[in-house]
Amino acid sequence: MAKIEKLIEGYQRFYKKYFGSNDTLYQTLEQKGQSPKTLIIACSDSRVDPSIISDADPGDIFVIRNVANLVPPYQPGDEGLHGVSAALEFAVRILNVENIVILGHSKCAGVNTLLHPESLGSSDFIGRWVSIGEEAKTKAYEKSKVCQTGEHLNHTCEKEVILLSLKNLMTFPWIKDQVNSGTLTLHGWYFPIHDGCLHHYNPETKEFEPLCQKN
Ligand SMILES: [Zn+2]
Repeated sequence: MAKIEKLIEGYQRFYKKYFGSNDTLYQTLEQKGQSPKTLIIACSDSRVDPSIISDADPGDIFVIRNVANLVPPYQPGDEGLHGVSAALEFAVRILNVENIVILGHSKCAGVNTLLHPESLGSSDFIGRWVSIGEEAKTKAYEKSKVCQTGEHLNHTCEKEVILLSLKNLMTFPWIKDQVNSGTLTLHGWYFPIHDGCLHHYNPETKEFEPLCQKN
């Protein structure tokens, strides 16, 4: 895949595109500050870049990425360092985003590690991090009882992790308040890598439904 030279060449194209004139989008963003309306919480996976998938412009989305797009529950005051929660607080309480999207995907190595911790061997951080998703794992095993293929279990668990992260978002009091008052909306998106057809979670049907259109 991409060597560093390819990325530097890419940067040169980016620089020409965005800083080639005197009146640039970045100058506006620098003067007015950022005001993204949407926070996307995605996996760190190199194939699932929220800016590429949503064709976003600079300043459009605030992004948090981590292993398996997990949101930990609200746990202030303990001794942990809460990078995800701090970024969430910044997006919701300072930037006042109007939407939060949890973006999960197929073939997620983080979710696979949650399902099969023995495949990881010893790790300093990964095992404990993905254990946030234990509840999703239990639900995925229950739902996959009828269909025992490993792939079905993984897809089910990837979607359950999205739902768990949405549930954990609601444990943050300032998120819950804004959702209840209608100023903040939560969304669950699932990106299957093989065909790129993004699905969104419909809370009424309790199903992930396609958003892709070829034309
Ligand atoms: Zn992933």
